[in-house]
Amino acid sequence: MPYCAECGIEFLEGVVSCSDCGATLAPGLLPADVYGPAWIPVAAFASPEEAALARGFLAEEGIEAEVISAERRIFPIHRVVASDTVLAVPPDDAATARALLQQAERGAVLLEEDEPAEGNAGGNA
Ligand SMILES: [Zn+2]
Repeated sequence: MPYCAECGIEFLEGVVSCSDCGATLAPGLLPADVYGPAWIPVAAFASPEEAALARGFLAEEGIEAEVISAERRIFPIHRVVASDTVLAVPPDDAATARALLQQAERGAVLLEEDEPAEGNAGGNA
């Protein structure tokens, strides 16, 4: 969907300018850095409440995390997509945060970094 690079908001196909600032929309997907200054999304949650709980859990471990909700980003749909409530952390804390959330198993769907798939589908040697 087209997006406004100024506001970091996505718009429906066919919209050509931002309703907030009037800028011409850019084609394609929102860049990853819409999550904030180089913060990395590490997990997705079914609800903002669960994400907030996980955020508190990470805070106890000394990791600062930010809950990012789709409500802020998708316009004018105003529909919360379950997997679009994500928890983002500073890059240095991403690996630790993933490990902690994995141990806690708080209903989070962990978001992997871009890693090449190593598994081979074929089994013939
Ligand atoms: Zn805008």
